[in-house]
Amino acid sequence: MRLSGVLPPPRFAQRRRLVDPATGNVLDDGLVLWFPAPHSATGEDVAELHVHGSRAVLASLMDLLRGFGLRLAEPGEFTRRGFVNGKLDLLQAEAIADLTAAETEAQRRQARRQLNGELSDLYQGWRDRLITALAHLEAAIDFPDEDLPPEIDDRILDETQALIAQIENHLADGHRGEKLRDGISIAILGPPNAGKSTLLNRIVRREAAITSPIPGTTRDVVEAAIDLQGYPVVLADTAGLRDSDDIIEQEGLRRALQRAEEAEIRLFVFDASCPAEAHAASAWPGPDTILIANKIDLVPKSSHRSSGGREKDIERRAIPVSALTGAGMDALMKALAGRVAENYRLEAPVVTRARHRQALEEAAFSLRRALLASLPELRAEDLRLALRSLGRITGAVDVEDLLDVIFRDFCIGK
Ligand code: GDP
Repeated sequence: MRLSGVLPPPRFAQRRRLVDPATGNVLDDGLVLWFPAPHSATGEDVAELHVHGSRAVLASLMDLLRGFGLRLAEPGEFTRRGFVNGKLDLLQAEAIADLTAAETEAQRRQARRQLNGELSDLYQGWRDRLITALAHLEAAIDFPDEDLPPEIDDRILDETQALIAQIENHLADGHRGEKLRDGISIAILGPPNAGKSTLLNRIVRREAAITSPIPGTTRDVVEAAIDLQGYPVVLADTAGLRDSDDIIEQEGLRRALQRAEEAEIRLFVFDASCPAEAHAASAWPGPDTILIANKIDLVPKSSHRSSGGREKDIERRAIPVSALTGAGMDALMKALAGRVAENYRLEAPVVTRARHRQALEEAAFSLRRALLASLPELRAEDLRLALRSLGRITGAVDVEDLLDVIFRDFCIGK
């Protein structure tokens, strides 16, 4: 108000001149918005000034605001205040960080779902059921002589068992939520000279490369991060698969095999003119290994499908491409994107962070121990521990030590 004269009505944008009250100087004119508490993102009184974004305008405005005793927000401070004031829980705060960092459509969708409270509802639902079970158990402990329903013990055990099953099922999600945040790993492998590097380059040039590198990935295998029709993918080009006496080559091979093993999807490339080379692909059976017959530009059309038996089968299953000319690449990218989409069609909410996974594993552990407890008091203690583990995910308990870690990674202004 000291800056803009009359405040606009709450939550309405109005154009105002922003004037230094001490000198009467007009600093700028722009939009002013006013969100009185508690109906704001942080739950506190919030004012927004939309001004011309030049350095000089911002500097003069910031100087003035500093004179009023205001300061710049720390990274994540708005979200943190929103959490402290009960506007959102920790899962939703983390979703805001994910949404801000989202580089692909699938990452955006996952963060939005979490921000909408899908995961919060799931975990809170489990907590509520656990609270009820614990309340029943405590009643049975405190009032053993009262007329409590005789089947109460069975009901508590059944509920504990049901919760264990649901948490374990939720944990057995193939880490898909975490992979969607970090990048889905696809390994390119095959014999030397099959054209793996050429293929990687061709794919990366076709797809929009994601600019920020994904941290924590090994550098000895050449990697490229791309946005594959909305999915964040990290493509790794591995050393050629062949027997060797060379120690360095053996190490390269060991890493290639490990990478191939860990990858979500494998692209096995072989030279279309020597389909016998494709035999090594049989080490990775299943739909997550896509066979690619490369260099079809070198194979005369008439000689296609000329080999017999097993080779014929491999040729039939392989997608024919030429990494050099680009022939067949559309079909390959379609097959690859289809495979990824198939694996990541997420109906139910999935675990999105290691922090949540650890808490869920602890909760399941406590619940399993509760089932085995010899005394009701011990069982109650285990249920309380499980409750605490679940509460830590949404921030209902034990938040203080977590806050700095969680909000550290936010950007300024969020
Ligand atoms: P890598 O060892 O599997 O990574 O194979 P490279 O990508 O280094 O390719 C080996 C050789 O095959 C290079 O000379 C490439 O230019 C060539 N090459 C790769 N793909 C094709 C292709 O589709 N057609 C033809 N004619 N040559 C190719």
